[in-house]
Amino acid sequence: MAADPRPLPRCPVCRRRASEESRPFCSPRCAQVDLGRWLTGGYAIPGEPEDAHRIDEDDA
Ligand SMILES: [Zn+2]
Repeated sequence: MAADPRPLPRCPVCRRRASEESRPFCSPRCAQVDLGRWLTGGYAIPGEPEDAHRIDEDDA
C-alpha cells in the first residue's frame, strides 16, 4: 500500500508539487506557461503570458 493514495505529479514547469485543481501543474499560471511553450514550439515565455486574464474565466 502506498503512503499516498493519489500521488500528484510534479509541475513540468517549475518542478513543484502539482495541485489537484491544476494538475499536472501546480497552478493555472504554470498551465498557461506550458501551453504557451507548446504553441510556440518550446520557446521560453519571458514573464507572464499575455492572456493570463483568461484564467479568471474559470473562477465563477
Ligand atoms: Zn508550476
